[in-house]
Amino acid sequence: MTTERRTKTPPWTIEDSAELYGIREWGHGYFDVSAKGEVVVNLKDGKKTKPVSLAQIVKGLRDRGTQLPVLIRFGDLLRWRIDELNEGFASSIREAKYQGAYRGVYPIKVNQQQEVIDEITRYGRKYHYGLEAGSKPELIAALAYMHDPEAYIVCNGYKDEEFIDLALYAQKMGLQVIMVLEMPSELKLILDRSKKMGVRPTLGVRFKLSAESAGHWAGSGGDASVFGLNISQLMTVVDTLREEGMLDCLRMLHYHQGSQIPNIRAIRQAVTEAARVYCGLVQEGARMGILDLGGGLAISYDGFKGATSASSNYGTKEYCADVIEAISEVTAEAGVPHPDIITESGRAIVAYYSVLVINILDVNRFEPPTGSIELAKDAPALLKNLAELHEESLKNNNKLTRERLQEIYNDAVYYRDKLRTEFSYGKIGLRDRSLGEEMYWGVMTWVSGKLESVGHDGSQMDRMSAVMTDYYYGNFSVFQSLPDLWAIDQIFPVMPIHRLKEKPTRNAVLSDITCDSDGKIDKFAHGGQICESLPLHDPEIESGVDYMLGIFLVGAYQETLGDLHNLLGDTNVVSVSIENGKLKYRREQEGDSVSEVLSYVEYDPKDLATRFRNLAESAVVSNRITPTERREIMGAFEAGLRGYTYFES
Ligand code: PLP
Repeated sequence: MTTERRTKTPPWTIEDSAELYGIREWGHGYFDVSAKGEVVVNLKDGKKTKPVSLAQIVKGLRDRGTQLPVLIRFGDLLRWRIDELNEGFASSIREAKYQGAYRGVYPIKVNQQQEVIDEITRYGRKYHYGLEAGSKPELIAALAYMHDPEAYIVCNGYKDEEFIDLALYAQKMGLQVIMVLEMPSELKLILDRSKKMGVRPTLGVRFKLSAESAGHWAGSGGDASVFGLNISQLMTVVDTLREEGMLDCLRMLHYHQGSQIPNIRAIRQAVTEAARVYCGLVQEGARMGILDLGGGLAISYDGFKGATSASSNYGTKEYCADVIEAISEVTAEAGVPHPDIITESGRAIVAYYSVLVINILDVNRFEPPTGSIELAKDAPALLKNLAELHEESLKNNNKLTRERLQEIYNDAVYYRDKLRTEFSYGKIGLRDRSLGEEMYWGVMTWVSGKLESVGHDGSQMDRMSAVMTDYYYGNFSVFQSLPDLWAIDQIFPVMPIHRLKEKPTRNAVLSDITCDSDGKIDKFAHGGQICESLPLHDPEIESGVDYMLGIFLVGAYQETLGDLHNLLGDTNVVSVSIENGKLKYRREQEGDSVSEVLSYVEYDPKDLATRFRNLAESAVVSNRITPTERREIMGAFEAGLRGYTYFES
């Protein structure tokens, strides 16, 4: 009785789910699991913070007729991120008695949506939080929204005459617009235009640091970076400005190490080098006053605490403190006043802001045989060999050794490969091949289950877990909603948003609905490691109740980089907040309709309908369909044109 109780596995709890999916690690306190077993997002209700269930939000949307997939935005999370960064710098500045100010700018390219820019300029005003524009359209958006004379508008990127004129006009009107020289040739054009307009420009210069960082975007910094001036070009700019009597216009040194810098040491190294260059420019007689560190402040997508490319070994507080300390040290040595500090933090501000919720449409299960397989007496020898291995796997062998396990694996792979070769030479029939492969997968499933107890590391059994998995088909497009996942193997947290009181019983790769083999998620951070499949619940498709997954931290870079692969368009979008305990759905935007995406690729929906109608009419004329059927068929075609590009239920 006592033994029995001891060996019973305790029931699965929400704590187990929280740990499995690492939500408390990557969720940054914004996301958690409720006692009901649902993912909650913490939102502000008046002065209090309240957890709101994502499943509840989706239910409200469904009741209103909004279909999945849906991108849900949380303005509260955006505001908290702005607070965290600005207050982080404010407290480090206070503690270090730093004399300059922090005046962050948000790089528009990271999420250009009007709602983001509107929120940042309104809410960020108390911090004089500015904007970074990397192109003419971004500058135009910045000028329309940023009217705080104490905030900066930093202009990076290539500049033509029109861009420069706009920046100079804005400066004339009292805005603090800084034009950053990305290439030596830009200086002449800026000086010409500013002389013509009678405005002394505020100039910055982007410098190629020698310090290189790790991470995917390391190439954005260092000697090999595409952007910025090297040291001799920098000196030429200083000399030209001096000759023109305009050294007072050079106000800012800028660098950008790359996005998502995982290691704080690299950040410290870069800021130290930049501070030395800054001091050198002051000593050359430039007016200066501002040091712009670019982007790079990392967030944890995988929930790990180390310097992995999807994570970081530091937090916002440490980042702010280290930046202030490094600049203070260098400027003190050089006897140069503390500059104002700009960072162009992008993903750290907006990544948490959006969550994509999808539903699972179908499943392709990995189901190896559970019992013996009967073979015909005259079955090929190869099949009999596989059957022997399979029988051994079905016995409860307590004395199984590491060596024997390896041997069984080797033999099974050998027989399976031979089976396939013999099949292609026509020596083995289709049904026998199928039986052989079934037994092979039975053996493999058993082998993988034994690795831990037998103490085998499984390293030679490469990619076994990636194959022995279910495929869950999710209602989304990787190319439209998660382009970085496809392009650069970015990790995003993925987990069910409900049923978290239940133990997940399946392992799955998540496929999208494009017909592209790249349209899948097969890298997940869970249980403290990167795995090729994700533990999920049986989606019980037959029940008619949706099994829903959240894909988190998709607020940075994903929305506008997405493309129309397979003509799957923008998803539905909604912004959610709470007021007096009630959910508020704002700024609902319907996703692209089929006719919209077709028109993006130059089809005229009316012409498409006419062409199809002609086909239908010729079918009527040749008696293949009746006129009534033609009406029904045309109705279906036109409804299809009006419909959502994703699966509708
Ligand atoms: N500033 C510049 C010049 C950039 O190129 C980038 C992005 O690579 C950023 C800022 C934003 O970087 P992050 O999103 O890592 O903060």
